[in-house]
Amino acid sequence: MITRSPAKVQTATPLLATDNSWQRQLSQAIRSPEALCRRLDLDPACLPGAAQGHALFEVCVPEAYLARIVPGDPHDPLLRQVLPLAAEAETPAGFVSDPLAEAAHTPRRGLIHKYAGRVLLIASPTCAINCRYCFRRHFPYDANAPSRAQWQQSLDYLRDDTSIHEAILSGGDPLAASDRQLAWLVGELEAIPHLRRLRIHTRLPVVIPERIDAALLDWLAASRLQKVVVLHINHANEIDSSVVAACERLKRASATLLSQSVLLRGVNDSVDAQAALSERLFEAGVLPYYLHVLDPVAGAAHFDVPDEEARELVAGLREILPGFLMPRLVREIPGEASKTPL
Ligand code: SF4
Repeated sequence: MITRSPAKVQTATPLLATDNSWQRQLSQAIRSPEALCRRLDLDPACLPGAAQGHALFEVCVPEAYLARIVPGDPHDPLLRQVLPLAAEAETPAGFVSDPLAEAAHTPRRGLIHKYAGRVLLIASPTCAINCRYCFRRHFPYDANAPSRAQWQQSLDYLRDDTSIHEAILSGGDPLAASDRQLAWLVGELEAIPHLRRLRIHTRLPVVIPERIDAALLDWLAASRLQKVVVLHINHANEIDSSVVAACERLKRASATLLSQSVLLRGVNDSVDAQAALSERLFEAGVLPYYLHVLDPVAGAAHFDVPDEEARELVAGLREILPGFLMPRLVREIPGEASKTPL
């Protein structure tokens, strides 16, 4: 088993004791099962299992996200996403460490080129939260953290391939990188004439909404590239007023906001939960985009929802939602030219 380090703060400026910056919130995130159980009034009987899961993939949950979890409720849908379980040690057949075979599509360090016209850049090896079902929970971030010189090799790759029109910043969470680093990278991307779009896949505006601050909005709003921010949100309870405000700030920076979710057993595997999510997303100015079935990553099998059940759920959703609130149910299959609709 591979373990991954918890998020580390990257900041260019010293932190003040009184500030509520995203860097401070990240530095004070809960990083042990004991602290998580204590903070949420959970039955101490869950600790041995939590410790077992934590040994495989470490706990990281910031306070802003914890505040949306109902204390004492072991079935809270947000808690389920962050609480390690003994079940993570189980590895049923078909659940592997690299379920999307990304290692086969990495022509440069930190650059993944799977689909025509777009490439994915690992802009940060860390996240603000460690989601138990993450398909990259075993990703070799250390081997994919480029130096500035290695970034130039990735940028050369993009410059040399005029068929690439879109750069996707991913991670980890790309917004866990400092604004100085991101402003530099986006500046380099803007200078590539055939690039038209910048897409950012992130969970940080949901986990710590204060991440969408003036420093970020400066470089984002100034970019000539069309901006698409794909927010990773799985449940309506994740969207509180501070998340709505962060979405409004992103829209003012001319970003188109889409969402992607993962269908997770015990979190959002009902028509009611999915309908509430779509409605809440739209209220926040975000269009539902993808509903992914679980990628079969080792340690997350207990979240799996069978395809037939997923199709029935989406059929039920279609009966009550307008078409523009319907996410596309998809699976990512290694080697396919795009996501596969179910
Ligand atoms: S799902 Fe996204 S935010 Fe969560 S651990 Fe994985 S990369 Fe990080």
